[in-house]
Amino acid sequence: MVSRRLASIPESTTMKISAMAKKLNAAGLDVIDLGVGEPDFDTPRNICDAAVESIRRGDTHYLPTTGLSELKAAIAEKLYDENCLEVSPDDVSVVPGAKMAIFAAIQALLDEGDECVLIGPSWVSYEPCVNFSGGRVRWAKVDEDFMPLDLAESITSRTKLVLVNSPSNPTGAVFNRKILEEIRDLAEDHNLMVLSDEIYEKIIYGEEHHSIGSIPGMEERTMTVNGFSKCYAMTGWRLGYITGPSEVMKWVNRILSHSVSHATTFVQWAGVEALKGPQNTIDSMVAEFEQRRDLLVSGLRNLGIKCALPGGAFYVFPDVSEFGGGDDFAEKMLSKAMIAATPGSAFGPGGCDNVRMSYATSQERLKQALERISELVG
Ligand code: PMP
Repeated sequence: MVSRRLASIPESTTMKISAMAKKLNAAGLDVIDLGVGEPDFDTPRNICDAAVESIRRGDTHYLPTTGLSELKAAIAEKLYDENCLEVSPDDVSVVPGAKMAIFAAIQALLDEGDECVLIGPSWVSYEPCVNFSGGRVRWAKVDEDFMPLDLAESITSRTKLVLVNSPSNPTGAVFNRKILEEIRDLAEDHNLMVLSDEIYEKIIYGEEHHSIGSIPGMEERTMTVNGFSKCYAMTGWRLGYITGPSEVMKWVNRILSHSVSHATTFVQWAGVEALKGPQNTIDSMVAEFEQRRDLLVSGLRNLGIKCALPGGAFYVFPDVSEFGGGDDFAEKMLSKAMIAATPGSAFGPGGCDNVRMSYATSQERLKQALERISELVG
């Protein structure tokens, strides 16, 4: 009954695992949820207040598709100051979540049969977005630190797009400037576009985030996506944004105008406050994440589990090939240790040896999780 294209789209494993953990907890079981993809912090109070004031002011009507002009201006300013991207507010569109921005950009760029390169284990929704467009994913290899390996080998005459997600979900890898320049060189040689998902840019530990769109030669080849979900703990608000060359933005906007129309009006006012108001809650959140990362990585290593030290985001992606592989280990974690984690296979073929564990949960819970994993592997 449904279209063939839709029938090939899998359910989001991460959302499925999280829903399962919540259900088991509601049934009275003590499941430690390391499947979560959202900060366990509340949205800062000043941002909530801005939304409430906005509703009271009566900001409850339609906006233009591309968003509130005050927010677009604040985003363009932020992109200039923090990301060295010189964009006009006219080329910025506010969207209900970065996910929608990614979906729209991929539909705008890919034709039937076009290829999109995903670099190693990649966020669960990229491949479905490519499949929705009729395009195909080609998986590029990565080394043991999840950095691109022989990327040129993945480029064919059908390649149109490379997806860059740094810091990465699920690996936490951060691409340095040299890697981004290598991707730029490939994009120039093969006339490719790059979609840069920078949603974890501020959740980074002692490394520097670079926006590939700011690298000379990439202005006209890069679509940059970002959002408020992770850095401002605003997952449920559904607020993200996208910018790129006007010619592509025109078609992104066409998709938005015929689907979501625009992001919620008073949520966009909250976005203005997020960008313009105090930024100190981000620093304390990142400091806490860093402690948890260190606790989890050293704890896993002490148990003999191979685990790269992620430079950003809030996930570790240990290699559990010596313990049965990702699917088997995640299954055992849930059934025997009551820990929900996502099997690495959810992130593509390169992740089959791994599990993704989110550390968006308290240090106390992480310590308990390590004890339970110790019993599992001991
Ligand atoms: N990109 C990545 C890499 C993510 O991890 C997520 C959220 N899980 C998103 C995009 C989507 O974010 P949003 O909540 O803004 O739709």
